[in-house]
Amino acid sequence: MRYCRFEHQSKTSYGLIEDVAGKEVITRSLTKAATAFSDFDRADKAGLPLSSVRLLAPVEPSKIVCIGRNYREHAKELDHPIPTEPLFFLKPPSSLIGPEEEIRRPMDLSQRVDYEGELTAVIGKRCYRLPEGEDVRPYIVGYTCLNDVTTRDLQNRDGQWTRAKGFDTFCPVGPVVADGLDPWKGVRVQTLVNGELRQNGTTADFLFPMDVLLRFISQVMTLEPGDIVATGTPAGVGQLKAGDVVEVMIEGVGTLRNPVVDRK
Ligand code: ZN
Repeated sequence: MRYCRFEHQSKTSYGLIEDVAGKEVITRSLTKAATAFSDFDRADKAGLPLSSVRLLAPVEPSKIVCIGRNYREHAKELDHPIPTEPLFFLKPPSSLIGPEEEIRRPMDLSQRVDYEGELTAVIGKRCYRLPEGEDVRPYIVGYTCLNDVTTRDLQNRDGQWTRAKGFDTFCPVGPVVADGLDPWKGVRVQTLVNGELRQNGTTADFLFPMDVLLRFISQVMTLEPGDIVATGTPAGVGQLKAGDVVEVMIEGVGTLRNPVVDRK
């Protein structure tokens, strides 16, 4: 299944993308809930061609939880120690943007803005204090692409990461939420800048697998439907310049594409 959020004739809706006679068609959910991924009981079956809508960020999270250093090679490239337990932080929902929206570099405050392509789980069911041994899969409605845009200089200067990772437009997400991925087996995560491959990792190299991450986070905070958990970035992070186009490609999800500009 592939879910999306979209704008059509100034109306915003959740949708289900299906192949109908070789064409990609969206069924519009008529449910008003913030996370209507699976609730297509009340749906507009007429369908809209995918090409006729503007895709938005496919989620409206109450929080964006991100894992730091979940790939050994990435921890090494930034000269960080290999963590012995998951390290997580939050990005503000105000940083969220959708596919094709501009990432705006705050050049008045930072000289170094980096991309970080990440596989991201979308929560489908409220989740708090998951016990050891409980299957986490029923809590995940699907997966999407996320770019954890970071001002590397401010991250190093501040010691904590709220400012460095919290600027408006620093959290592109999308283009769709897809199920059927298996991060335990290994999902390919790639980042391209201007068409050139910069990151090429697989979730098979996670230091902490998805179930450990969700269990760990849920001991602290309730994960609500629509919340997202970005699973960390593979090696190969690097800088973005104005005029660049950055793409996060995940097999089974698609490509999240965003142009980069300097903010006014
Ligand atoms: Zn990250």
